[in-house]
Amino acid sequence: MGENRVVQGRMVTGKKLAELIEDGSVMEAESITDANKDCPDCGESVLEVGYMPSVTEFVTGWKCQDCDWSDTDRD
Ligand SMILES: [Zn+2]
Repeated sequence: MGENRVVQGRMVTGKKLAELIEDGSVMEAESITDANKDCPDCGESVLEVGYMPSVTEFVTGWKCQDCDWSDTDRD
């Protein structure tokens, strides 16, 4: 299991971070890593997590640590 990270003031696991990005449940998620980019909305740090919303899909998602901004690699 990866380490928990603080996102918008609360500790989250990779799975919880993925669920925030999806605004729903996910099947599995990897550990959280630093995305090495800044949030386009507020300029704070962005976290990255790979996850499976379903058995047939793998998504890389990004979420700002300090605001509601998030994005995924979906088209
Ligand atoms: Zn932000």
